[in-house]
Amino acid sequence: MEAPLTGWVEAYSRQIALAEIGYEGQRRIREGRVCVIGVGGLGCESSIRLAAMGVGYLKLVDRDVVSRSDLHRQILYELSSVGKSKVEAAAEKLIKLNPDVQVDPLPVALTPGNVESIVKDVDVVVDGLDSLPPRYLVNRACVKNDVPYVFGSAIESYGNLSTILPSKSTCLECFYPRLEEVSLPRCASVGVHPSIVGVIANLQVYEAVKVLMDQPPKLTSRLLYVDLTHMSFEMVGLKRREDCPACGWKPAGELEVSFNPVEEVCARDGSRTLIITPPKPLDLKMEELVRQGLTLGWNPSPMGRYSVNMRIKKGVTLSLLSSGVGIVSIAPELAGKFKLKDVKAMYGKLGVQTNFLP
Ligand SMILES: [Zn+2]
Repeated sequence: MEAPLTGWVEAYSRQIALAEIGYEGQRRIREGRVCVIGVGGLGCESSIRLAAMGVGYLKLVDRDVVSRSDLHRQILYELSSVGKSKVEAAAEKLIKLNPDVQVDPLPVALTPGNVESIVKDVDVVVDGLDSLPPRYLVNRACVKNDVPYVFGSAIESYGNLSTILPSKSTCLECFYPRLEEVSLPRCASVGVHPSIVGVIANLQVYEAVKVLMDQPPKLTSRLLYVDLTHMSFEMVGLKRREDCPACGWKPAGELEVSFNPVEEVCARDGSRTLIITPPKPLDLKMEELVRQGLTLGWNPSPMGRYSVNMRIKKGVTLSLLSSGVGIVSIAPELAGKFKLKDVKAMYGKLGVQTNFLP
């Protein structure tokens, strides 16, 4: 009978055998600290690879909870994960896959107030986000703190990626100056093919591992554009902009990245969905929320350590995370009637602060 794979050399022998990794590369991977921001389609795929490859420390950041419509592409989750915070469900799976990896789940939203502390203590940040405003926050924080950032995005059947080495390569704002978010497709309205998610995330992992091994990544100052409908992989050369507001030496324009505590995002399962984000993560006690929810008759059900679901009334549900992030789902027949004051009232009745809401 074959001996169990206890030592790390045996466990990773098939990648140590690669000339570009070897023992030294594996040692660096094992000492590596990676932050995956956004554990949706891209982040599930990249974090499962990074954990399996034996990265030493993996920080997972996501404010969202798992919904049924995520499961076709978000490969860390299963039916029993629906309603749970994504980072908690992801961490449970990854620790089972590789207990050597220290997984650090953060069920918080990215804000201008916390983004720097999130990226500062890692060797590389891997992008798993699904919209541009938080990417600008990450890009700024990475440039400022000299942390490499592997940008990636995927929608419909196409996607792109680039690796940002602060002060050595183009940054996100050099090649994606502030586009109007409304003009960009979002996943609910246009759909996303799981294959493109897998392609982009796996290439991101290759780049992140290069950074960990202190080898030059392949996509610095280059954007790889992948279009599966034509099976095309095209590389575009990028130039640093001297007037880039994030990394330029003659920055132009305002430096602030706007922050919106109320967003309407990808409709999940056909409902209208609002995401409420306090500018600074709160530290809500789950037991208190459950007690309060019971008093209100909102039928609270705790979903893991960081999230509680409540049925506010017929057609309105709230998933509230310990960080104070709330995901409000409103049935189509109530969508037109639901107002911001209803969110305020909901939070107020639960004893959660509302002074950050407009
Ligand atoms: Zn730049």
